[in-house]
Amino acid sequence: MDWMALARRVLDGHALTRDESLAILRAPDDEMPALVAAAHMLRHAHFGKSVKVNFLVNIKSGICPEDCHYCSQSRLSKAPIDKYSLLGGSDIIDAARRGHKFGARRVCMVASGRGPSDADVRHIGDAVREVRAELPETEICACLGLLNEQQASDLRAAGVDAYNHNLNTSERHYGEICSTHEYQDRVRTVEIAKDAGLSPCTGALFGMGETDDDIADVALALRATGVDSLPVNFLIPIQGTPLGGRWDLTPARCLKILCLMRMTSPKAELRIAGGREHHLRSLQPLGLLVANSIFIGDYLTAKGQRPEDDIAMIRDLGFEVLGAEGLASAGEPPAGDGVALKSREERLGPVAG
Ligand code: SF4
Repeated sequence: MDWMALARRVLDGHALTRDESLAILRAPDDEMPALVAAAHMLRHAHFGKSVKVNFLVNIKSGICPEDCHYCSQSRLSKAPIDKYSLLGGSDIIDAARRGHKFGARRVCMVASGRGPSDADVRHIGDAVREVRAELPETEICACLGLLNEQQASDLRAAGVDAYNHNLNTSERHYGEICSTHEYQDRVRTVEIAKDAGLSPCTGALFGMGETDDDIADVALALRATGVDSLPVNFLIPIQGTPLGGRWDLTPARCLKILCLMRMTSPKAELRIAGGREHHLRSLQPLGLLVANSIFIGDYLTAKGQRPEDDIAMIRDLGFEVLGAEGLASAGEPPAGDGVALKSREERLGPVAG
């Protein structure tokens, strides 16, 4: 397959077909450089050198009655996570300030649970107004589970810009990862959020036993929902969850998934979300040639890479943090006069005898 020719057709408006989607997932690994170059051409055409940095705040943790098999906060999980009910407004603002310091211009407020109560929505709305007053240029995304129309419109009125609700996997595969709600419940919430004027932030999670067909189906379903922002998560197999210890992905597989998402939704803000450190590993910079957005700092219940290392990666690629351009371009080379050489003993170990 001539990947660059395909990407040029996508740039001209071609909608990737299912067969072309499957071909990306099944591309031989030695075609990876050409595939990444083609996806990068689309990324560059729509986003230039910018990287959008997002910061997660887990505003309510654990104690969830749902049974999503991948989630450390579900009722099935035995993972020893922190459990707490809704954070106060000052905690949320402190977290937003921390993210802002590292260039995050979108704060994602995530609460565990099937969906918020009306009282939760009022509480979160008050916190959102305070964050808006102090950090007016910061976008606010909420991720609170299944929503009704009134809750969606109350969040929008409070100043929430976007709503995150992932499809996670294909409709066919959904029943294998969750039994307490259905794929169509998720589709409905995405529609409700969109109708209320919230920007749709909707993505998927890979590494849960899905087939190539499932991946192609969810990629095409995400395109059909018209997502503005598309987070791609790779399973963090937390011990104590039903999917704990499951390591199905390789760095090459993750890159192909990112290339597929770029080709099916070329104008969407494509975010490498949970699991990038564990699954892309040393190929994280290649991931950013395709995606234009990352989370910085920790995930909901798992540690992420140090924010300083993410900023250094962005700078080393010659990219810029969107909205905080000085942050990634003013970097200094590592401190010190030069690289010290190891002593003979450090190289070879102590001399015997
Ligand atoms: S993903 Fe959300 S709804 Fe599912 S178990 Fe976790 S916190 Fe609950």
